[in-house]
Amino acid sequence: MQAFRKSARLLGITFVLGVLSFAAMQGGFGSATQRAAPLENRKPLRPIAFYPLPLTSVKPEGWLRRQLEIQADGLSGHLDEFWRDVGPNSGWLGGTGESWERGPYFLDGLVPLAYLLDDPRLIAKAEKWMNWTLTHQRPDGGIGPPKNTDWWPNMVMLKALTQYQEATGDSRVMPVMERYFHYQAAHLAERPLHEWAKFRWADEVVSVLWLYNRTGDESLLDLAHLLDQQGYNWEGDFAHFRFTSKTSAGELGLKSGVESELSLSAHGVNNAMALKTPAVWWEVSGDDSDKQATYRQLKEIYDYHGLANGMFSCDEHLAGRNPSEGTELCSVVETQYSLEQMVAIFGDASLADLLEKISFNALPGTFSPDMWAHQYLQQPNQVMCNLEKRDWNTDGPESNIYGLEPNFGCCTANMHQGWPKFVASLWMATPDQGLVAVAYGPNVVKTVAGKGVPVEIKEETDYPFRGIVRLTINPSSPTAFPLRLRIPGWAGGATIAVDGEPVEGVRPDEFYTLDHSWKKGDIVVVTFPLEVRASTGYDNSVVVSRGPLVFSLKIGEKWQKITTGMSHPAKPPAADWEVLPSTPWNYGLMIDRANPERFVEVIEKPVGPDPFSPEGAPVELRVKGQRIATWTLVDGSAGPLPESPTTSGQPVEKLTLIPYGAAKLRITDFPQIAP
Ligand SMILES: [Zn+2]
Repeated sequence: MQAFRKSARLLGITFVLGVLSFAAMQGGFGSATQRAAPLENRKPLRPIAFYPLPLTSVKPEGWLRRQLEIQADGLSGHLDEFWRDVGPNSGWLGGTGESWERGPYFLDGLVPLAYLLDDPRLIAKAEKWMNWTLTHQRPDGGIGPPKNTDWWPNMVMLKALTQYQEATGDSRVMPVMERYFHYQAAHLAERPLHEWAKFRWADEVVSVLWLYNRTGDESLLDLAHLLDQQGYNWEGDFAHFRFTSKTSAGELGLKSGVESELSLSAHGVNNAMALKTPAVWWEVSGDDSDKQATYRQLKEIYDYHGLANGMFSCDEHLAGRNPSEGTELCSVVETQYSLEQMVAIFGDASLADLLEKISFNALPGTFSPDMWAHQYLQQPNQVMCNLEKRDWNTDGPESNIYGLEPNFGCCTANMHQGWPKFVASLWMATPDQGLVAVAYGPNVVKTVAGKGVPVEIKEETDYPFRGIVRLTINPSSPTAFPLRLRIPGWAGGATIAVDGEPVEGVRPDEFYTLDHSWKKGDIVVVTFPLEVRASTGYDNSVVVSRGPLVFSLKIGEKWQKITTGMSHPAKPPAADWEVLPSTPWNYGLMIDRANPERFVEVIEKPVGPDPFSPEGAPVELRVKGQRIATWTLVDGSAGPLPESPTTSGQPVEKLTLIPYGAAKLRITDFPQIAP
């Protein structure tokens, strides 16, 4: 360790010089600017593939901006006005109320939402919380409500603070973090990480490295090592993965819902967060085994628990691949965040494919279209949302209700980060002074590229509903820099044209590099062929997709307010809803997996104000199917999938499929009707 410190100090000197010259070029280190370049990893950290751009570099446009506005008009923009746990009496505002994770969770999503929308109302809300934390650091360096003695909620607040600093340049943030980390380093021996903090330690390492890259304080690397030593050994777990099917309360040693070390290691949200753990640690260790562990972890989780919506199942704990199993909203947004980190670290296009799949399917699919209600658990085959007791591992019968606080309020507090962090991650910087389109959606990015030249790129697209992405490149003066474009794994036949001239060698599942000298008004058009695909899902079922969108049966939805029976009933202006089917759902599809396009008609509709609603779906697929009389409800869920291929004997009907995210009742894993 001593030798390590010494070499780090030597290396630190050269890097301080590098940062100084860089800062001079940018007109001041830490100033709030739309044109700040990202900081690269400072030695001895490993260089990573892509560097996230400072928050607010990417601003949403088009349907994506509208989606964030829906979120701001929904629970995210109003929750603190009526939900006690993030209300004015929060311990994180100096009150006597909730003093654990809920305030920080809320801010981790409210901060990026507010600043990406430049919404003064939301910015005022976010500033109130940030100001309290920044002005109430204790003399010993502790932050947050004095009565909290758990390291875990502070880890979340650190994520909110780093985003706030990037958006505003507030000069108070880094000194507060610096003092806090020194305080924590001094106290971890007597008060080690435990429970949630022990399993989620890598989330703090992200903030520790963020500060190290800005200050060069080498003691921060010692703290990172301490967190690694005390944190849970996920890599050891996945070297001999134990949970290869739906877990059970007995197997996990759960007694009246109290978590054990074993159950915390099977916990869905912990696993979602842990996907990034070996990747983040690889930045510190540089050890190939950490990189390999990242991919092993992903493979094991998805091989045994993967679902058609891009997520893995967990009703609190890992739950196998049956499409009637659920996935918690917290695990959705945490998997997104993990993938955003992982794709930056390794620059692997397939990680961004998965990020898009979750962001365009599982995320919108678990919210009401107005984002005033959400579920705790969503199901790929979700044919009824009501208070009937279901065959969950651990979670209660409220779990798939659309409401304010179904089952448990963690998701109510944590769900806000999903959309805004995805928007912020659409573009990243590359170490060769270039830019990379990690994921697609309408936006404008403002940053610097090439030899420090301010660059704006306007991305016009209705992706993922349409396949054409048009980029207008606007450098303030002509400059050369590499522009990398992700070609998704599903996008065989994708084309790229620069100012009308097609380029050669575009291949799926990689980043295509345009190494050009760019001038104002250069146009790059990327065309993704959105072919209908029919892949094999759980138990030989068939899953239909087009581009990054997964398609589900459109089922008539009857939304009814729930007025009794919820353990934490919603108060106005929020409400709890059961959703009952008003049309049949038990269909098999008449489709050939090898040639699905011959069996499916694609109907494109305008991309309207609510693309993730059944009425507003911008794409519909028409396909023939037959009802399967033996496929019935079991405990409020679609019963066991009939074996595919199967026969029906029922009349042939024309069915409508809509994007998963638009269908709040749905069948996604279909039995296949024998030809
Ligand atoms: Zn949750």
